[in-house]
Amino acid sequence: MIALDHHPSGRHFLQIPGPSPVPDRILRAMSLPTIDHRGPEFGALGLKVLAGMQQVFQTRHPVVIYPASGTGAWEAALVNTMSPGDAVLMFETGHFAALWQKMALRLGLKPEFLAHAGVDEQTGLPWSWRRGVDAGLIEQRLRADAGQAIRAVCVVHNETSTGVTSDIAAVRRAIDAAKHPALLMVDTISGLASADYRHDDWGVDVAVSGSQKGLMLPPGISFNALSPKAIEASKAAKLPKSFWAWDEIVRMNQDGYWPYTPNTNLLYGLAESLDMLLCQGLPAVFARHLRWAEGVRAAVRAWGLPIQCADAAVYSPVLTGVVTPAGVDADALRRLIHERFDLSLGTGLGKVQGRMFRIGHLGDCNDLTLMAALAGVEMGLRLCGVALAGSGVLAAMEHFAAHSRHMNLKAAA
Ligand code: PLP
Repeated sequence: MIALDHHPSGRHFLQIPGPSPVPDRILRAMSLPTIDHRGPEFGALGLKVLAGMQQVFQTRHPVVIYPASGTGAWEAALVNTMSPGDAVLMFETGHFAALWQKMALRLGLKPEFLAHAGVDEQTGLPWSWRRGVDAGLIEQRLRADAGQAIRAVCVVHNETSTGVTSDIAAVRRAIDAAKHPALLMVDTISGLASADYRHDDWGVDVAVSGSQKGLMLPPGISFNALSPKAIEASKAAKLPKSFWAWDEIVRMNQDGYWPYTPNTNLLYGLAESLDMLLCQGLPAVFARHLRWAEGVRAAVRAWGLPIQCADAAVYSPVLTGVVTPAGVDADALRRLIHERFDLSLGTGLGKVQGRMFRIGHLGDCNDLTLMAALAGVEMGLRLCGVALAGSGVLAAMEHFAAHSRHMNLKAAA
C-alpha cells in the first residue's frame, strides 16, 4: 500500500467521469465477509445481480458479468462473435472509439474507421471529437458493401473522452435501412445507469459496460448484454477465446454461478447498487443526470468557454468537456486545481490532450457536491489567468435553484 504522509481533511472531490464516487452504502455492502462461491447463498446473489442487470440494460436476454475492467468486456464482445480477418465498421468519436478500433486490429480483425471530416477552426479540435456518430455515413457505407462482408458495426454510446453521446436507435435504423446483416455492438461503459440505454428496443446485439461509472461501484467488473442474434453468431465465431467465452458462463449463470471464481465482494456492491438504482427508478436516474449536466453547462457557458460537444442534441448527461483557451494547458490547470482544492477532474485524452478537461457529473453526486466542484474549477481558472466572461458558479446556482430536484422527479414519473 502507498504510504500517505498526510490525509487532507474533508472528502476528496472525485469529479472525473469514472470511477465515480462510491456511496457509503455500497462500500459497507462490499465489506461483508467473502462467502463460498459454490455455496447456496452465492447462487441467490448471482441470480439477483443477473436479473437486476437485465433491468438496467432493459433486456430480456442474457447479461454476462466478468471480473475485469471494461476493456475485457470490449474484447469479449469481439472474440465471441468474430472470426479472424472479419471486417468491422467503427466510428471515430474520440479516444475510446479509437482504443476499441486498435483492439480490433490487434485481434486480427479488419476495422474500418469512419469519421466526420475536418478540424474546427475556432478550437483546433477535430470535428469527429466534437460530434456523435453520423448514422447516415454508416448507412451509406453498408449500402456500398454489396457482398455484405462487414460483420459488425461498433459504436460508443457515451464517449467519455469528449462528453458526446450517439443516437444508437438511429444506427439501428441505418443498418436496417441498408438491409445489412451486420451485428450492432455498443460500448455503453459510461452511459449505462446514467444515460437512457435500451438494449432490446434499440436492437443492439452486444453491449459492453463497466462497474465504475453510473453503477457507482469501484472498477473491476464489466458486462456484455447479448441478443439472440449475437448468441447465434457466437456459435460460428472462430477467434480464440476461453476465459471470455459466453457459452459456459451463460450455462452456469442459469443457477447463479460462474465457471471460475467470481468477484464476490464487488457483486455484493452490485446488488446494493441495483437496489439503489431500481428503487429510485431508471427514469428518475436519467432525469437526475440530465439536470446536473444542464447546471454544469450553464456554468461553462457563463465562463465563456467552449463546451467540447458541438451538437446540443447529443450533449452527454454524464460529463462535460471544457475546452481551454489557446495557450492554457488544461493539464497544468487540472494539476493546480488538484493541489489547491483537492478536486480531481478528467484529463484530455489522445488527440485533445492538454486542450480540454472533463467534469464528471455522474453517480453519487448532488447539487452541492457539483457546486463545490464548479467553485474549484472557477478558482483554478482565475488562478491560471483565464479571463472569464462571468461567474459559472452563480449561473449553476441559479440553475439548480430554479429547477427543483422534486419537479424533476415528478416529470420522470
Ligand atoms: N470505453 C469507454 C467509453 C470508457 O469510458 C472506458 C473507460 O473509461 C473504457 C471503454 C475502458 O474501460 P476500462 O478502463 O474499465 O477498461
